[in-house]
Amino acid sequence: MKKISISLFIFTSLFFLACSDSGIIFKDGLIIENISIIDPEIGIKDNQTVVIQNGKILQITPTKDLRLSKTNTIIDGTGKYLMPGLWDAHIHFSYIKELAPNMFDLFLANGITSVRDTGGDIDFVNKWKEKSLSDPKNTPRVMIAGPLLDGMPNVYDGSDPGHPPLSVGLQSQEDLINEVNELDSLGVDFLKAYEMLTSEQFKTIASLGKEKGLKVTGHVPLSMDVISASNAGLNSMEHLRNLELSCASNSDELLQERRELLLLGRDDKGAALRSSIHNKQRETAIKNYDKNKAKEVLSVLAKNDTWQIPTLALSTGFVKRHFDKAEWQESFNYIPKEIAKNWLESIDKINQMEITPFRQEYSDWLIAMTGNIHNTGIEIMAGTDTPIFFLTPGRSLHQELVMLVEAGLTPLEAIKTATVNPSKYFNLEKELGNIKKDHWADLIILDANPLEDINNTRSINAVIKQGNYFDKAALDEMMKQLKEK
Ligand SMILES: [Zn+2]
Repeated sequence: MKKISISLFIFTSLFFLACSDSGIIFKDGLIIENISIIDPEIGIKDNQTVVIQNGKILQITPTKDLRLSKTNTIIDGTGKYLMPGLWDAHIHFSYIKELAPNMFDLFLANGITSVRDTGGDIDFVNKWKEKSLSDPKNTPRVMIAGPLLDGMPNVYDGSDPGHPPLSVGLQSQEDLINEVNELDSLGVDFLKAYEMLTSEQFKTIASLGKEKGLKVTGHVPLSMDVISASNAGLNSMEHLRNLELSCASNSDELLQERRELLLLGRDDKGAALRSSIHNKQRETAIKNYDKNKAKEVLSVLAKNDTWQIPTLALSTGFVKRHFDKAEWQESFNYIPKEIAKNWLESIDKINQMEITPFRQEYSDWLIAMTGNIHNTGIEIMAGTDTPIFFLTPGRSLHQELVMLVEAGLTPLEAIKTATVNPSKYFNLEKELGNIKKDHWADLIILDANPLEDINNTRSINAVIKQGNYFDKAALDEMMKQLKEK
């Protein structure tokens, strides 16, 4: 009798031992268990298990419902948060070419898994796009526009260090059509229209974009108002540029004056002409800000689905001086030393410049307007303009999220502008930008809840790019290498 119970005991023990690992095996899978998922469209879901295989999300299951074999690669997500990898929807690889080789790692280490290059030398930006396509597990995804399509005189003509040759200055209709055809054949992902275009040129770009299935983003040309640019087919606007000019009670008068100034200044340098027009009109426009006019403009933007990339970290930078904080300047350790030195010297000079009442007013206006835009139901994308104005690649996108929350978005809505929205912009929403089955596993694991405090998007514990897992040690090593470069 005794003998029997012992063998029964051995038998049942073996049975349970086998059972304890009769869980499911996901071959070559990466599994994150018991984590809180941030879905930018819905909110937080606690205690989830996410299975990643072949670079994509295979399934998401409540942790209690999935029995896993211990032979899987399992990451314990207890107390942590999983969010989609971030986009920076406004960057320039070719603004400071010597900085470009550091940008991929700076983006990845900061959780930016996709970027939209909003203008630069086509060969140069294409090189970074191709590099990314050939090694997608170790680099951020890159979308490019090629050069800014500008009129004459063009602003970014390379005539001074503040205006590197990011643009092409287009004279005739034929030049313009040839340029767009050429860019299309080189595989650009969208087009960027710039400020010195004539209204006729702008309309041609918009219709070519439509014909070729390329979105057109840009600065509203000085020769136009926002309503006509949006009606012509502008898909998105960068920096809320020239929006104030169309929201003034005297907007028609201002437009007329601009057209005259453009004609008078046609032999000037593009950058000088543009800033003289901004200087002449911006302050007047803000003084004549007309709430009802603004409402009318925003309703047209909403109706036409003209998205906005406010780049608030950039445009409020002079007043808020994020770049003056020790914590911000710490990020300069990871860019080439010569550039860091120049930036610190320029920051010293800027700090001696007065924040005039108008500078303050314009900065406040941009923040308030971003809130209005959001409340009108116009979609926003988070973008920085890095590396312009000391906006360190990677670090700066998190500042943009903070600014969007200051403008009135909830943290969840701010996260959506940097995940779901840019993916949708490029018609990739079925495969990118959220934590869903069949989406690319471009993900960030955070130590703290970003919905409680948007600053927590920086509490990065790990980054996953197309299933490739970079733990804290790997990310630290990446940054160490940049520092020693
Ligand atoms: Zn830009």
